[in-house]
Amino acid sequence: MKKSPQTSLIHTDYSAPEGFAAFPSAIHHASTVLFRNVAAMRSGDWKEKSAYTYGLHGTPTTFTLEARLAEIEGGAQCLLAPSGLAAISMVDFALLKSGDDVLLPDNVYNPNRELGRWLSSDFGITARYYDPLIGAGIAEMIQPNTRLIWTESPGSVSMEVPDLPAICAAARARGVLVALDNTWSAGLALRGFDLGVDIIMQALTKYQSGGSDVLMGAVITRDRALHDRLSLAHMRLGMGVGADDAYLVLRGLPTMKLRFEAHDAAARKVAAWLKARPEISKMLHPAFEDCPGHEFWQRDFSGAGGLFSVLFDARYTEEQTDRFVDALKLFKIGYSWGGANSLCVPYRIQSMRKHWSGAGTLVRFNIGLEDPADLIADIEQALQTLQAS
Ligand SMILES: *Cc1c(COP(=O)(O)O)cnc(C)c1O
Repeated sequence: MKKSPQTSLIHTDYSAPEGFAAFPSAIHHASTVLFRNVAAMRSGDWKEKSAYTYGLHGTPTTFTLEARLAEIEGGAQCLLAPSGLAAISMVDFALLKSGDDVLLPDNVYNPNRELGRWLSSDFGITARYYDPLIGAGIAEMIQPNTRLIWTESPGSVSMEVPDLPAICAAARARGVLVALDNTWSAGLALRGFDLGVDIIMQALTKYQSGGSDVLMGAVITRDRALHDRLSLAHMRLGMGVGADDAYLVLRGLPTMKLRFEAHDAAARKVAAWLKARPEISKMLHPAFEDCPGHEFWQRDFSGAGGLFSVLFDARYTEEQTDRFVDALKLFKIGYSWGGANSLCVPYRIQSMRKHWSGAGTLVRFNIGLEDPADLIADIEQALQTLQAS
């Protein structure tokens, strides 16, 4: 067909030769996905991952990432969301409707608590909070209209480790679904499905990307019918992710276990040093005995991440502990974690929780990939600001 230069800008007769092979996944950008003919278009089913219908519902890049994430968790299906929080809301909007009840741990990721508040105030759903160490006692909180129990192991600020198998057994006995926020262990150190969980949520923003440069979430399942319910919400809420972002996560995956183990080893070194310091009254790291639920970590986990918290002795004011955080040089102040850089955040934990009995400021550390000896030296010099007051 004869074309004008304007049309040649858009249409080309050239197609690249077949058979190109390389290790990285190709980055497929697409809103429109092309069909061979009308029959192929009419038979296209957005729910089927064996074909393509529209960029929002999947490309080879996103399908590849989904398949890998499902495999890492020992699941069968996966849906990607534009952030970890979007993955959480996808689960809630897929599984809850007016009149239903959802249970959340009192130490839940704070934006998930905020979502619970919204569901309660505007959607006719009740969201109730349970003691993260409730274990089998959760049975007494389950009502006939309870549909979903969120769990998080450990809680990402106060670090309690729940008795997950006990919660799952109580939920199963009453036909209630259990969702696990498994971000802390990256799906490597805690095998949620083996412990009885139905849905695993991951903030890929953390270890999977590893670069502090991308926001993404995943919802992983083993049951096709449950996956189908989640995919309806995924589609209705329009939860697509961009190809470049999916590629960044794919690029991070091969090194994730090595990075995770390095974060783990360094965090335990820094935590052991901090625990021996007189300024610290409690080490909230699941691998340490001080940490509530430590015995469940020992039983259920094969490792730990780079994230833990400490309680400063109650004799230090918030003003003093703020000064400590400000005095850190290698540790930067900022949310999120799982990247190469160490971070530190003080939390007003007393105002975040319904039940919190500990005194003293809670400070959370994310141990990055720097040399732990340098991180310890940094903390040591910053602790001197506590004396100088
Ligand atoms: C970061 C995080 C999330 C949310 O992930 P975003 O991608 O930041 O929305 C959810 N749960 C936990 C435990 C997290 O640490």
